[in-house]
Amino acid sequence: MRINVTRSSMPSFEEYAEEIRELWDTRWLTNMGSKHEELQRSLEEYLGVPHVILYTNGHLALENAIAAMDLPRGGEVITTPFTFVSTTHAISRNGLVPVFCDINDRDYTIDADRIESLITEKTVAIVPVHVYGNVCDVEKIAEIAKKHHLKVVYDAAHAFAVRYKGVSTANFGDMSMFSFHATKVFHTIEGGAVCFRDDALVQEMNDRKNFGIRNAEECAYIGGNAKMNEFQAAMGICNLRHLEGEIEKRKEVWKHYHGRLDGVPGIVMPAPQADTKPNYAYFPVIFDGHKYGRDEAAARLAENGIFARKYFYPLTSDYECYRGWPTAGRKTTPVAAYVADRVLTLPMYADLEPDDIDRICDIILE
Ligand SMILES: *Cc1c(COP(=O)(O)O)cnc(C)c1O
Repeated sequence: MRINVTRSSMPSFEEYAEEIRELWDTRWLTNMGSKHEELQRSLEEYLGVPHVILYTNGHLALENAIAAMDLPRGGEVITTPFTFVSTTHAISRNGLVPVFCDINDRDYTIDADRIESLITEKTVAIVPVHVYGNVCDVEKIAEIAKKHHLKVVYDAAHAFAVRYKGVSTANFGDMSMFSFHATKVFHTIEGGAVCFRDDALVQEMNDRKNFGIRNAEECAYIGGNAKMNEFQAAMGICNLRHLEGEIEKRKEVWKHYHGRLDGVPGIVMPAPQADTKPNYAYFPVIFDGHKYGRDEAAARLAENGIFARKYFYPLTSDYECYRGWPTAGRKTTPVAAYVADRVLTLPMYADLEPDDIDRICDIILE
């Protein structure tokens, strides 16, 4: 049977059917209905953050979060090229210029020690990514932002349910974005959210996803449409009930992989972070200078119906649409380039069977 890099968690059909039943009576299918309100409140409680605003996907949540920072067009935003292209697009589509900072070689998040050297008089914000659910150096980034008066918007798409020193990743920076895409640890089929503490941003983030409409006669922003509908929210309500159990199962998968791959020459796996409660979202492996490299391993797995992913390869700064941008180019981010050329993200999901993990490891070890 085909094994993909991920497999969506789902509640039982009956549980979901029960959750959406009332929609046949109310006929309230979108525009902030009761499921939307319930999920939003549940997430605020679960994440321990004052404000969660739901969006129809993570990308539009991030794009609107950056827009709400009210940054001057042409301003420079320091970010990482080792991410999903959504991060870089969300900056560019706001008329801002991504400036690519290298990553560190421990957890592959932005190298906070390099950020200050990239700050110019045009720098307006930092958009770091908690890649693979690894938490960025949030303390150092907060310090730099304060010193240089920069906004910080986290792409926390991978980091739902992750806690650092007991605080959920929803609480860092000016805002954090989660993706609730079907491939993520917690999902609403498609979906996303912005999380923040500042009460003053609530109205704007609500308006922005609904064309900028404030009320029947007022339109405050040139907004788009990015509302989460009731069927998405209902899926979220169901999935949230099972989340901790799913993460526990992912932890078992993580342990099994480590049992098989620890100490194998040529294979590097990022060490667990200190003070962090992880979500086991991904299982990245770096093929580090062994005879057979990443591409051979990926090809062998694929021959056996196992589809790992080169996640993230290429760097977003290497995509055609960013080539030639003043700050693009692999030379400026050598660690990111090194990792992108060697990383393979192995299948990781709650229901991955021990036998399948063994099969995957056998092929890699061979
Ligand atoms: C999934 C993802 C996004 C985009 O989220 P969508 O919900 O798919 O729009 C953005 N950034 C990163 C790092 C992601 O993995």
